[in-house]
Amino acid sequence: MPCVTVLMLFEYILTDEKVLRPEAYIALRDGHEIPKPSEQYTWYGRTIQNIIFRPEYHGVTVNFRTYKDSYKDKRPKQRPPEEWLVFENTQEPIIDKVTWETAQKSCVVKRRPNNSGTPNPITGLAYCGDCGRRMYNARKAKVLKYDSHDSYACSGHSTYPPKCTMHYIKTSSLQSLLLDTIRSVSHFVQEDEAEFVRLVREASELKNDQMAKVQRKQLAQHQKRISELDNIIKKLYEEKITGGLTAKRFEILVADYEQEQEDLEYQIDQLQEALEQFSDDTGKADKFISIVRKYTDITELTGTILNEFIDKVHIFEADKSSGRREQRVDIHLNFIGQFVLPTDPNAVEPEPFDPVENRRAQWREHYHRNKETINAKQNERRAKQKADKLAAQPVKTAEELAQEEADRKEKKRAYQRKYQRESQRKKREAAKAQTNQPPTLAV
Ligand SMILES: [Zn+2]
Repeated sequence: MPCVTVLMLFEYILTDEKVLRPEAYIALRDGHEIPKPSEQYTWYGRTIQNIIFRPEYHGVTVNFRTYKDSYKDKRPKQRPPEEWLVFENTQEPIIDKVTWETAQKSCVVKRRPNNSGTPNPITGLAYCGDCGRRMYNARKAKVLKYDSHDSYACSGHSTYPPKCTMHYIKTSSLQSLLLDTIRSVSHFVQEDEAEFVRLVREASELKNDQMAKVQRKQLAQHQKRISELDNIIKKLYEEKITGGLTAKRFEILVADYEQEQEDLEYQIDQLQEALEQFSDDTGKADKFISIVRKYTDITELTGTILNEFIDKVHIFEADKSSGRREQRVDIHLNFIGQFVLPTDPNAVEPEPFDPVENRRAQWREHYHRNKETINAKQNERRAKQKADKLAAQPVKTAEELAQEEADRKEKKRAYQRKYQRESQRKKREAAKAQTNQPPTLAV
């Protein structure tokens, strides 16, 4: 169910059940006057969203959400979520973390409903493969041929001047691609869970190894630089003691080096955290399997299924250099990322693409589909050509027409005479040949 609908449902239920809204409840609890008593039971979507989006729902405690500039200041300021202190498993969760995160994701992006009132569920999951911007959904009121009235394009293309190329893709193509992927991966998991786990681990370890190698190298470089900086600062201090460096110059130099050291320490923390995360990848496949187990057969692409299975989709620009339109689409599944199914050894190799034969086949298909229209158009064109030709001829008088008729008859008679002469001549020649023949000897 779309997020907006859920919030509206809650609005109606809470308002109908006469549940006090938080502001009124706090005022009543603390013995204050209820602000706006006429609206004490009126709930708004935003309030409900603020409540159900709290991470406490999945069993954590969050501290340091706000801060104050001074103890005299009464107005708390919000900290960014990265700076919050989160303590895991401090209470019994109401819902599990995966469901909570899925719900969050489905409400991040505004999805505009179409004429039938249903929003497009892919919006918010599709990104441009080249610039990384979000793909925008474009719909036309008129239904066009080949479903091209509903499509996605890179948001960078709609700016002026354009910051990216269009990256056009039809929604129907994207939907069938996503449904096929979800169905085929789910089917594979249902068939052989152990093999799936093995493949996910293999793929993720490989990926992590490559990334971890780079990050470990960076970590070593940063640590080396920190020890170098320690030595430099030590030497500067010694120079200051011996009088080779003024106090002012010493302070400026040391401040710079200390700042660099601080930056490096922060980066080291980040890298170490990322490396620890890399090692914790064993549960990914299990999480994905738990999603697959929820559905026995998927026939339709709904918002819930999309959010449960798909993390994001990267769409690249189409390439027409081979004679047909080819477009790369990377589908990242939740937890496991891109998953390539093992190829079937018995599968038949597709024939190499022939642009000329493809064009012919397209034309044949088009002709058979629209045979009647094409023939009718051709007949109409021919009739028009004939009429034009006739119209272009000058109008003849009755005398001219009579003369023309006489000429035609004379021409016909001349031809008949010539034909008769010719046939008589042939007959004469045949008779002559008969008489000149030597007599045959009778035995
Ligand atoms: Zn783009």
